[in-house]
Amino acid sequence: MIDMEKMEKKVNQSVFSLVEGDITQETTDAIVNAANSGLMGGGGVDGAIHRAGGPEILEECKKIRAKIGQLPAGQAVITTAGNMKARFVIHTVGPIWHGGDKNEPEILASCYLESLKIAIANGCRSISFPSISTGAYGYPLNLAAPVAVNAIMNSLIETYCYIPLVIRFVLFNSSVFDAYAEAVRSNAAIQAGKVSDKHQRQGY
Ligand code: ADP
Repeated sequence: MIDMEKMEKKVNQSVFSLVEGDITQETTDAIVNAANSGLMGGGGVDGAIHRAGGPEILEECKKIRAKIGQLPAGQAVITTAGNMKARFVIHTVGPIWHGGDKNEPEILASCYLESLKIAIANGCRSISFPSISTGAYGYPLNLAAPVAVNAIMNSLIETYCYIPLVIRFVLFNSSVFDAYAEAVRSNAAIQAGKVSDKHQRQGY
């Protein structure tokens, strides 16, 4: 059941929700940063996270850079959250939108899945995500939102069905929120379709 007012949904053991707000204020164990491959900070949510968290985050990013070089799109690394309330920042690099035939959806889905994986591996049970790639990287919001929502929903249904997680999408304004709300409604319809398909096959 979706609580439409709060846009909150129970999925197996987990709670999934959409909120409008500033991700730097989140109290979840981890917040996810839409970083760039250089890991040296930038504009948008990246700039906001480095400003709110302080220089400790950049220090750790520099060490990671020295070890691995550029972070490829679709992958994720973890640092402290510095002065923010969260414990960790997961930095992931979204795809730059080139029209949709350069694996943008697969890379975007990978950002969410790799971020979730590294957060859980570090003991996090509550994670906040921004809308990756839909700012400077130009991914159309109405196409990015279903990729993001479906990737997370599928992993809560399949991969992490026994782990109680709190997953929040923290969306910066009402148009971003509305696009994600629409994607959640479509995902619910897809899930309902899957269930009724299965029941039909089984002769229910
Ligand atoms: P990208 O380079 O991956 O496109 P941006 O930071 O430019 O990343 O934009 C991604 C999304 O983050 C946009 O929807 C933007 O409105 C949003 N955003 C910017 N600042 C914040 C913030 N403090 N909290 C949550 N979302 C934010």
